[in-house]
Amino acid sequence: MQHSGKIGVTTDNIFPIIKKFLYSDHEIFLRELVSNAVDATQKLKTLSSLGEFKGELGDLSVKVSVDAEKGTLTISDRGIGMTGEEIDKYINQIALSSANEFLDKYKNDANSIIGHFGLGFYSAFMVSKKVEIVTQSYKDETEAVKWSCDGTPNYTIESVEKADRGTDIILYIDDENKNFLENAEIDKLLKKYCHFLPIPIVFGRKTEWKDGKSVETDEDNVINDTNPIWNRKPTDLTDEDYKKFYQELYPFSDEPMFWIHLNVDYPFKLTGILYFPKIKSNIDFQKNKIQLYSNQVYVTDSVEGIVPEFLTLMHGVIDSPDIPLNVSRSYLQSDQNVKKISSYITRKVADRLEEIFKNDRSQYEEKWDSLKLFVEYGMLTDEKFYERAQKICLLKNTEGKYFTFEEYKTLIESNQTDKEGNLIYLYASDKTDQYTYINNVREKGYDVILFDGQLDVHLAGLLEQKFEKSRFVRVDSDVADNLIKKEDDAEVKLTDKQKEELNEAFSSQLPTIDKVMFTVDYKALGENSKPVQITQNEFSRRMKEMSAMQSGFSFYGEMPDSYSLVLNIDNPLIKKVISDVDGKEKDAITEYAANSAVVRQLVDLALLANNMLKGEALSNFINRSIGLI
Ligand code: ADP
Repeated sequence: MQHSGKIGVTTDNIFPIIKKFLYSDHEIFLRELVSNAVDATQKLKTLSSLGEFKGELGDLSVKVSVDAEKGTLTISDRGIGMTGEEIDKYINQIALSSANEFLDKYKNDANSIIGHFGLGFYSAFMVSKKVEIVTQSYKDETEAVKWSCDGTPNYTIESVEKADRGTDIILYIDDENKNFLENAEIDKLLKKYCHFLPIPIVFGRKTEWKDGKSVETDEDNVINDTNPIWNRKPTDLTDEDYKKFYQELYPFSDEPMFWIHLNVDYPFKLTGILYFPKIKSNIDFQKNKIQLYSNQVYVTDSVEGIVPEFLTLMHGVIDSPDIPLNVSRSYLQSDQNVKKISSYITRKVADRLEEIFKNDRSQYEEKWDSLKLFVEYGMLTDEKFYERAQKICLLKNTEGKYFTFEEYKTLIESNQTDKEGNLIYLYASDKTDQYTYINNVREKGYDVILFDGQLDVHLAGLLEQKFEKSRFVRVDSDVADNLIKKEDDAEVKLTDKQKEELNEAFSSQLPTIDKVMFTVDYKALGENSKPVQITQNEFSRRMKEMSAMQSGFSFYGEMPDSYSLVLNIDNPLIKKVISDVDGKEKDAITEYAANSAVVRQLVDLALLANNMLKGEALSNFINRSIGLI
């Protein structure tokens, strides 16, 4: 047999397209060719088990090798092989319909193009100046053939001698892609794309250290794990197996907290293992570590659009032949299968969390600080998940105790309802910084939630919408009496003139702090309450915090932080200042205040309690205090 011909495509020439347009992701040619070799091998195994192939199967591993001198990369299998007719049918006839339009749309997405046209084999031309197929079919009485094509639509095909059944794909790597002739590069790519293929992939020989150097052994270097644990039955696996697999995926990582083994056959096929990683700090926030496989072939580590956004914080693998890979991401999200897959995974995650919560609450609480980022993220972005998670989402108080929403409501209901019947949830974002404020409200018998996570303020906003007649307020957003208003404010008996004088005395002694604004406020809080306190309005502070995490809200971010300096006009110290400044002119008041240890100490103490007394002002305060002693 010997002839030549033109590859049957309906566009003029597929090769420039392959070379020119598929400039991203060149490396996936290796995945395509190795998967073809694996498919051919599996087909032979199937034929053998059906009795249609009666010969010896022998060693079925796929071998990848580099010949740097010849400039070739070869992928060899001992699968079904092809006859000359089959090459003609499967390789020479490529049907391309409306190709130009499609290629234009997806020119940067090699995955889509290759999938769309079934161009797996032709991706070899992305990196080669010439490709040869040398193949011997498993069928009796067929001859081995060699197909050769140099990157034009013209190919030749001829009979050759081949000792063994199966196919060698020989790539003559072109000058721009010499990196694919480096062993280290191929090793890396095989580990990335072929790590869990079901047939052993051999790349060279294993090496060992001998007399201080690395030497080759006789043993094949198998780069893959042919039976990854996600395909096995959970009952056959131990915790150690799951942890070991996690290490295999993410070497040197901390142990995961929990995992979920996914396994579904209908209405779509999906297997996988998802891990909840330990989250040590907010900086750890790492998305996109889940690897997506299709029948054990690595596809991508970007699962956006396939799993709900909050679950991209999880780690692990998902393997499903039912996720369409050759379509754009935006199309993916509207795909019915993908929608089902996404809600299946969400449900499984909720099931698992609920199970741990029910069976082992203490373990659940122990891990809550790490878990809560997932749970809160999920509740904020996924209505269905909210419904499930609201029963297992915990609130931690400043004493380190954990409560479900129900439990917490029961705890505070009797004592923290204001005169309008609103339930007031008090929270602190920093136990140390807000110590004085926390103490003030705890003395009143109130409980304080610790909201120090990065999504906590957002959660507070959501819960205010979900809970009836409830508000979340930070402990420093008002004086303790006003946080939960149980009766009307006592009347402030000051004339406008007196207010003005007080205002002058205190604001003249406030330090200028960058991006901070103070207003003086007057309250009748009783003679035993603190004379001066600094508070920050809940609403404006929250707007600022939220805007810091969202783009497009820089307006709020640019605004200064505004605080209130609350003067308790019932306190004897303030009363004294009121009478001292009575009837004085503006300048005289400023001078009085500047020389008044009372005014200046009170201002500084209030700043100190709010962690705002710094630098020179702090050192002045210390010196003044020593003087007073
Ligand atoms: P796809 O694999 O998506 O069908 P390809 O272009 O990768 O598209 O391959 C086309 C066909 O060529 C395959 O379906 C298969 O029949 C045949 N083929 C490719 N590689 C091999 C191989 N190593 N052994 C046997 N047949 C092969």
